[in-house]
Amino acid sequence: MVSKAPAVAFITLGCPKNEVDTDRMRASVLASAYRLVDEPDHADVVVVNTCSFIREATEESISTVLDIAADWLPERAGRHVVVAGCMPARYGEELSDSMPEVAAFVPVSEEGALLAVLERLTGVSAGATTPKAVRRTDSGPSAYLQISDGCHRVCAYCTIPSIRGPYVSRPLADIVAEAKALVAHGASEIVLIGQDISAWGHDLAGDLGGLAAVVRAVAAVQGVRWLRLMYVQPDGVSDDLLAAIAENDNVVRYLDIPLQHASKPVLRAMRRSGDATSLLRMLARIRAVLPDVALRTTLIAGFPGETTADVRELQRFLTEARFDYAGVFVYSPEDGTEAAALPSQIPLRTRRARAQRLRDLADEIGFERAGMRVGETVEVLVEGTDPDDGVVVGRWRGQAPEIDGLVLLDKGEPGQIVSACIVDSLGYDLEGEVIS
Ligand code: SF4
Repeated sequence: MVSKAPAVAFITLGCPKNEVDTDRMRASVLASAYRLVDEPDHADVVVVNTCSFIREATEESISTVLDIAADWLPERAGRHVVVAGCMPARYGEELSDSMPEVAAFVPVSEEGALLAVLERLTGVSAGATTPKAVRRTDSGPSAYLQISDGCHRVCAYCTIPSIRGPYVSRPLADIVAEAKALVAHGASEIVLIGQDISAWGHDLAGDLGGLAAVVRAVAAVQGVRWLRLMYVQPDGVSDDLLAAIAENDNVVRYLDIPLQHASKPVLRAMRRSGDATSLLRMLARIRAVLPDVALRTTLIAGFPGETTADVRELQRFLTEARFDYAGVFVYSPEDGTEAAALPSQIPLRTRRARAQRLRDLADEIGFERAGMRVGETVEVLVEGTDPDDGVVVGRWRGQAPEIDGLVLLDKGEPGQIVSACIVDSLGYDLEGEVIS
């Protein structure tokens, strides 16, 4: 039993969707009798919000939990470790047997039960909680806005439908209300996220206009300086969506389109559509409407049955497609997926070597594309000052938070959007001089 209001700290692993989930849980703690603290050292309960979409992510989640259990837990009596998010959603009961040091598991779909779990562990009532309109607990200039959860697709390698469940769209009115609240809390940039935001609305009654309608509605919210879209599936790149982006100046010309592969036999085995030709046609259609667009994709190397000819096809595609950024994952056979049961699994060494070759090619192209910005004047959203070297850092419209590199500036205040002339490039990072 803890005498004063118990303090709760969060550790978040994984993707932006998890950050949004953590924000929601943090906000519920803020609205309760408990205290929210940043540092585990000051906490009575640490909630580790885990990721589990591939084996490496699960391993990172397990080792984080075990480190906390070994180092933090025994330092003081009355401490508790709670494991939330995707790992308990995926592995359920199995975990309680293998991790006896963990006091409770809160899978992603049961996140609303966190306060009841904290009551049980601490013996202190959560008190009357007021639902908060604003879920955001971070004060940076950029905020994620989740517009859907789950997935309705059947990609053969993917665990996400089993972790996050079927596709559920958030109602448009909720999305717009949250965008307003985020802006009121200081966000200049809103990033729309979901496993597949391009399918928004397909599960709701009536023709709601799809993602294009969401883009138009959020872009119209006063104070949204930049609006960014993350994770648009190739079949969701409609003409109406491109028009909605083109007609709104505050929608950044940036699309993250996870393609996974470009060779037709591999895509079919993955249960995905398209081939190199149709995907190149789609990219050309995007660039015709949005000539200054920055494009990101993700690829998987070493899917079962992938031949050297398939790899060559993917390399040829990558060379022609000229993505600004491409994340390459080593294929990982995940329990319970169709792909894990396929014959012709490729040895890990080969998978890794293929992934590295693709990464090298993607970097070569990406660095060259970044270098093409030298001499341009671009808008940069200032994020803050690097604590290590005191350099002011921000992002131009073609760089998403946390993944695509930064612009290093000579001056600027956090949250400001400045005009900067790009004077140099260093890999994916750019160096800019502020003009105004
Ligand atoms: S399992 Fe998927 S949804 Fe969950 S944190 Fe990892 S990447 Fe995000």
